[in-house]
Amino acid sequence: MALTPDIPFPWQQRHWQQLQQAREQGRLPHALLLSGAVGLGKSSFATALAQALLCQQPDEAGRACGRCRSCRLNAAGTHPDLHRVSPEEGSSQIRIDAVRKLLHDGVLSVGECRHRVFILEPADALGGPAANALLKTLEEPIDGIHLLLLSAHPEKLPITIRSRCQQLRFLPPPGEQAVAWLEHQGVPGKRAPGLLEISGGAPLAALEIAANGADERYRRMAEEFMELAQGEGNRDPVELAERWLKQVEPGLLQGYMISWLLQVIRQQLDGGRDGAPVNGVQMPRNLPNLRSVYRLLDNLFEIQRNLNHNLNAQLILEKLLLDWYRIARGAY
Ligand SMILES: [Zn+2]
Repeated sequence: MALTPDIPFPWQQRHWQQLQQAREQGRLPHALLLSGAVGLGKSSFATALAQALLCQQPDEAGRACGRCRSCRLNAAGTHPDLHRVSPEEGSSQIRIDAVRKLLHDGVLSVGECRHRVFILEPADALGGPAANALLKTLEEPIDGIHLLLLSAHPEKLPITIRSRCQQLRFLPPPGEQAVAWLEHQGVPGKRAPGLLEISGGAPLAALEIAANGADERYRRMAEEFMELAQGEGNRDPVELAERWLKQVEPGLLQGYMISWLLQVIRQQLDGGRDGAPVNGVQMPRNLPNLRSVYRLLDNLFEIQRNLNHNLNAQLILEKLLLDWYRIARGAY
């Protein structure tokens, strides 16, 4: 893992400074929970923080120097005191063996330097037994041990874990800052707002969408979604669900639907805007009942909270699209 000179990102400065201050005063929390949506750079932030903690001569801003032995080890991805724990491939949970190994190898053995950093990502993948094993470490902090838990769904973590971490909440930056950052990365300013709309304001996610041209796919899906409400193009909810799931993962799709429904609501509250397209997508002409649209939104939020990526994604999506189809016909 290369060193990360551009980190913290502009929208992470406040968190970084806050941690540096705590570090200078010798009161850096030994367990941090970095929470926030995907695409806000939590992972990069955690890596930069870990490298800074392990660096022998951090710069004035508290960032890793990039030259010392520790930094060279980190640049090569071989620092013995930086440990990462994630679910194994094909699994959605962090195994208890992985946590035990972490505690045994990392916490109890003597490492290269004073600090040892553990990055658990995503932390909400800690199953019950794994969480319990970790809890012991959280209850009895050891000097020089830093636990960085990363999660886009901190509410899924056991309360016993959450309450023992200091939480750093990462929020999407203000629109202008995100657009400026994207432009700096080479994304045309005209395209940036649309990308941010898709990514829920998360700049790194927007950049990834730009890189693989997913905004065009998103626009086409939005069109199909609106056509479904309109009864045009012989859209069939079941066929749409099947096809979309082949293109986009369920969590992301639900995020898309939320942003489309919000556009529909916004347009209605604006008095219909004479049926003008939004981001190149024609809104439904027959304005659906707002109460029903809000009910569908509530369902989506509820599903997002309880998301199990593998469970019945197709059925859930079919039901949502069918509801949308019926709402547009005043039958929901
Ligand atoms: Zn260094």
